[in-house]
Amino acid sequence: MCAFIDAAPSPFHVAQNAAVALAAAGFRSVDLANPWPGAGRWFVQRGGALIAWVDESGTGALSPSAPFTVVGAHTDSPNLRVKPQPNKTSANFMQLGVEVYGGVLLNSWLDRDLGLSGRVSIRSRAGAIEDRLVLVDRAIARLPQLAIHLDRGVNDGLKLNAQTTMSPVWGLGTSGDHEFESFLAAELSSDGPGKISAGDIVSWDIMLHDTSASAVVGNGDEFVSAPRLDNQLSCFVALQSMLHTAATASRESVAMVALFDHEEVGSVSSTGAASALLRSIIDRSVIGRGGDTDAVHRALAGSLLISSDNAHATHPNYVDRHEPEHHVHLNAGPVIKINANERYATNSSTAAEFQLACEAAGVPFQRFVNRTDLGCGSTIGPLTSAELGIATVDVGCPQLAMHSAREFSGSHDPGYLHAALNNLFSRSC
Ligand code: ZN
Repeated sequence: MCAFIDAAPSPFHVAQNAAVALAAAGFRSVDLANPWPGAGRWFVQRGGALIAWVDESGTGALSPSAPFTVVGAHTDSPNLRVKPQPNKTSANFMQLGVEVYGGVLLNSWLDRDLGLSGRVSIRSRAGAIEDRLVLVDRAIARLPQLAIHLDRGVNDGLKLNAQTTMSPVWGLGTSGDHEFESFLAAELSSDGPGKISAGDIVSWDIMLHDTSASAVVGNGDEFVSAPRLDNQLSCFVALQSMLHTAATASRESVAMVALFDHEEVGSVSSTGAASALLRSIIDRSVIGRGGDTDAVHRALAGSLLISSDNAHATHPNYVDRHEPEHHVHLNAGPVIKINANERYATNSSTAAEFQLACEAAGVPFQRFVNRTDLGCGSTIGPLTSAELGIATVDVGCPQLAMHSAREFSGSHDPGYLHAALNNLFSRSC
């Protein structure tokens, strides 16, 4: 899991690396612009999203009205993203203009060695636009803190401003008008076929990341210290369960993994959980197996979505921020997330289904509710559940430091979640 996370600082890399792992296991890519290929093991990769499914069993295609068992997660994490005109100069430093993406713990980005990654659109020689992924996994930028001597009250409350205090330094002197574009062009030229000039760079979706490697820590290796555990932990485990279930011949439901982008900013995008992407693939899978509209609705009626997104473990230094009768602990199993106001889509029936899967897999589980006097977070579960009208359970592995550049989880929980998801993919319908 640490290797998976370290190799994917951007949602585009999560989707790309998942696609490579699926292809190596015999899954084939589907182009949505082409006629539907029929039943099999398939995946659709679109930007930072990926949907993979198996709609056949050992004896051939599943019946058209076979329900779906979908594990959903998100590929994006809060971070700093490079603006369209990023070249800045101040006090003889070259700086990068960045925009804050999602609910970032801004302080966690200070004093870290930062690399960058994402997608670049370039003008090809033939005049067409070509998208390329870029990954610079060495320290090229940094956000140095202000010395305590210049802000004596800092330990009484650090104040950061997303516009004025979060521009990383990445060189000395005066920034050229196309400094960043030239840097990207050099990186892409050294990394791919053909020389690219700054003028070939048209646009980008590029973000910063901490370059230090993920690690297993603790006096008994109990913990994982890594960036983007929310929610690459779920992406990795969902992918492993898909690979596991694909190797199993018999199943009664279509096994599907849906990794969406843009959860951290509300999921409303062409690759987010509120998009038509998942519904469109479900429709075409049913119709491709000979079903009609009625079969689509029969399939949805029996389907189950397991929306997996990390949960807040009880913080030892802030115990009072948590509901006292529902403490959540690291390495105590996946968490079933419940909210009476439907910030989570779990209901008693879907909670029970997940709980029984944990019991059958021999793994522990926990239940989470927020303190009722604090607002509750949300995730892709309620959106997808409402869009598709399918039964949903919101779950996730516990963690601390959510939305920090460096997050913290238990080292046993991913394995527990993996066992539970394997069981759900083989559920009888
Ligand atoms: Zn999340």
